[in-house]
Amino acid sequence: MSKKFRVGILGATGMVGQRFIQLLADHPQFEITALAASDRSQGKAFAQACTWRLAGDMPEFVKPMQVMAPEPPLDCELIFSSLPGDIARASEGAFARAGYPVISNSSAFRMDADIPLLIPEVNHEHLGLLDTTHRSGDGNQGFIVTNPNCSTIMLALALAPLHHKFGVSSVVATTMQALSGAGFPGVASLAISDNVLPFIDGEEEKIEQETLKILGTLRSDAIEMAPMSVSAQCHRVAVTDGHLAAVRVKLHETTTIAEISEAFASYTSLPQQLKLHSAPEHPIIVRDEVDRPQPRLDRNAGGGMSVTVGRIFPDNVMDYRFVALSHNTIRGAAGAAILNAELLVALGKLK
Ligand code: NAP
Repeated sequence: MSKKFRVGILGATGMVGQRFIQLLADHPQFEITALAASDRSQGKAFAQACTWRLAGDMPEFVKPMQVMAPEPPLDCELIFSSLPGDIARASEGAFARAGYPVISNSSAFRMDADIPLLIPEVNHEHLGLLDTTHRSGDGNQGFIVTNPNCSTIMLALALAPLHHKFGVSSVVATTMQALSGAGFPGVASLAISDNVLPFIDGEEEKIEQETLKILGTLRSDAIEMAPMSVSAQCHRVAVTDGHLAAVRVKLHETTTIAEISEAFASYTSLPQQLKLHSAPEHPIIVRDEVDRPQPRLDRNAGGGMSVTVGRIFPDNVMDYRFVALSHNTIRGAAGAAILNAELLVALGKLK
């Protein structure tokens, strides 16, 4: 068996950090050798620092590991980061400058012009930005690759086959987002019980901006934003896991419901061709039942890595509408970052 990459997780005690640990526990290419979190946790054994909040038990091997500060050096070759956005920039930047590849969930670097904002199925060619970074000639092998916001991943993945086949000109997306998207303890129970919260700080702007970068085109050493307009409204709902979006699109080309459904269902890309470990066989699953997708029934489709789409209909105001759903801490966060890393390995960009 080939050597595994030794990885460190920043924000290891959090909702996304725990999902990283769960998904990496038996991974064929990565082994966890470092865990880092805030000064509340540093110096403690992981089992003392972390209250495990996922189904199933905390993996035995992480229990005695000492939680470190999220700053270099760490005993690893590759960093997965799930730090809060406001502190991620300094920490992730320091690791990249110190020569570590950093695969980040955080928003800090996503819209930087020289940083790939990657969904491996959709825009793997944007990794060409790394060649530009490394052309600087300073010999530093460090870099940062980010994955999009949890709702943006689902939306951009669903839009990708429509954009390629018919051209998307406008998008209106209304999200209903799970509680785990706010970390732990997240939203107060008295605020969300018997209620819907029509505000998630920064979320609408992230969806509107990130989607254009992801669906944009790499031109020499910069991303040209996709020529479409995106409008997003975001709501927090009392669901544990699984973000849902009601989406309406205007297309450049005339098409049919059958062709749209076929474009979703037949969509595959490089991760499927390369048979990457975390790549779902079907990135997009189409459900024909009138009442799907639903968070509880569909969030674990494709091991949590597939987006489920349903309720595809003509729309009286835009051209078409559909509902999309995906698991926010798997395809929307840790699973997305791990798939990014698997692609980097397959393309020889992690040495
Ligand atoms: P979380 O549950 O609140 O976890 C935050 C983690 O960061 C914990 O490990 C915490 O350590 C650590 N941390 C907090 N303040 C720190 C500091 N000052 N210095 C060092 N470490 C610090 O949050 P989360 O939901 O996992 O989200 C983490 C990141 O992923 C955020 O940037 C978020 O926007 C992004 N993200 C989340 C989701 C999702 O669905 N939850 C999806 C996509 C992206 P302690 O336990 O020691 O406090």
